[in-house]
Amino acid sequence: MSKTKKFKTESQKLLHLMTHSIYTQKEIFLRELISNASDAIDKRHYMSLTDPKVESDTYEIWLEPNKENRTLTIRDNGIGFSEEELIENLGTIAQSGSKQFLEKLEKEDVEIIGQFGVGFYSAFMVSDKVEVYTKSPFSEKGYKWSSNGESSYTIDETDEKEVGTKIVLYLHKDDKENDEDFSTYLETYTLKTLIKKYSDYVRYPINIMVNHGDDKKEKLEKETLNQMIPIWKRQKSEITDEEMSDFYKHQFNDYEEPLKVIHTKVEGMLTYTALLFIPSKPAYDFYSEKYEKGLQLYSKGVFIQDKNKDLIPDHFKFVKGLVDSSDLSLNISRELLQQNRQVKNIAAHLEKKIKSELELMLKNERETYIKFYEAYKNTLKYGMYDQFGMHKDILKDLIMFKTSQSDEYTTFKEYLDRKPESQKAIYFATGKSKQSILNLPQMDVMKENGSEVLLFTDEIDEFMIQVLNNYDEVPFKSVQQGEADFVDDSKKEDLKTKEKENKDILKAIKKALKDKVKDVKLTARLKDSPVCLVSGEGLSLEMEKILKSMPN
Ligand code: ADP
Ligand code: MG
Repeated sequence: MSKTKKFKTESQKLLHLMTHSIYTQKEIFLRELISNASDAIDKRHYMSLTDPKVESDTYEIWLEPNKENRTLTIRDNGIGFSEEELIENLGTIAQSGSKQFLEKLEKEDVEIIGQFGVGFYSAFMVSDKVEVYTKSPFSEKGYKWSSNGESSYTIDETDEKEVGTKIVLYLHKDDKENDEDFSTYLETYTLKTLIKKYSDYVRYPINIMVNHGDDKKEKLEKETLNQMIPIWKRQKSEITDEEMSDFYKHQFNDYEEPLKVIHTKVEGMLTYTALLFIPSKPAYDFYSEKYEKGLQLYSKGVFIQDKNKDLIPDHFKFVKGLVDSSDLSLNISRELLQQNRQVKNIAAHLEKKIKSELELMLKNERETYIKFYEAYKNTLKYGMYDQFGMHKDILKDLIMFKTSQSDEYTTFKEYLDRKPESQKAIYFATGKSKQSILNLPQMDVMKENGSEVLLFTDEIDEFMIQVLNNYDEVPFKSVQQGEADFVDDSKKEDLKTKEKENKDILKAIKKALKDKVKDVKLTARLKDSPVCLVSGEGLSLEMEKILKSMPN
């Protein structure tokens, strides 16, 4: 019995793009299908360790070109699809990355296709028709999915017994006008080159039968086309920037180069390799609740988990990447993994490593650091504030501010290094922008004294500083708040006398303002401005404003 279904709208859009693609890098379809095969084997292998219904196997991926039928088949013995999964995974774009890709495509050039995991649908760049034969260990029946990449697809039941998936591509006719030769994907030579180029690090053998005989006598032999060494297991010095960047883009669905790559091998009490990336820009959903932090977890090159949250702290949640450890037992469940001591130890190492790499970047590649900081400063600042400042020592040297005297960023340490000996505090002022802070009446005296003031323009800033409290035992002091102790002593004396002389007028003003203010005082903190509002020692005016604007 055959069922025909329509693709979801987004899928239709993407398919249309694929089938009408004038894009030159069509060859990436092979990388996409092989990476899906490898993911499917990962899933089956992991499930075979935890679910008695799933049997393990000798895992392999096969390429089967057939010149007579003009088909290329990619076969794996991975987890396969149930009927629902065929509908869910091949009929709609479920994967968030692909949605992001489509959104981006509407604005940008189709060129970015090559840098993006567009997945299964890329098969339609080279095929008139695609058939998927599959069997899941969870369903009795096997299924055949088939489509010509237009608006609908069909699903039929089959008697397939072997668990896994076989994808048959009916290659387009060669297009003489556009000089496109699709039959090249039936040549062993082309397939070998493409596997070397894109899929060499896939951890399961990608096999093909090769004729080692001659025209008269065929002698077919199995050949494995990939080296199977995952990129993170290779020598750092032997990996080119391009390879690393391609791996990152493909594995973590980004179309931009990573801002920073951290590749580290640790041996000893704890043995693991970590390959971490800082994306150039926050993921499109980074600031939404949907964003899931985490690192991929492998044990001796075998995939265990896609997003292990315990490996990365919230204040570094922008980091993507993977950890491969030989100290993790393979057949441990995800629940147990959470309490696993090794995972905790690795996480603690990684936190320190990320911190020190960022500090090095700040020291040696300031421009890159500033890019990083502008992308993720709120995450770092919130991390300082979070959990009563538990992580402040890790983060405080990564924080920077612009100041009243410079448009360059300054760390707390740099600020202290250049402040005059006599200055007893780190001054800051809060406002919407640099200009609005510079216009504050309270800045008059700071300008006059030539004192440098940190500009707090993000809402989180003051909250964070309350938690930090001091840096190297030097307290933070708001120029908008409390006693103006930055005014020098002779002026203070002067003020006392003047206050006595003007007692009556001050009283009169206070009476006129009634309970709108707590007190009216003369001040030496002003120069060009006649009056200013100052808040007491508790909450600052800016913090009060923020708290008031927050929903209860
Ligand atoms: P992505 O791999 O980024 O999730 P794809 O379009 O490549 O997106 O694949 C869509 C989904 O189809 C996959 O997430 C997976 O669930 C399923 N899938 C694709 N190929 C296979 C396969 N060979 N075996 C089992 N499932 C597969
Ligand atoms: Mg994929």
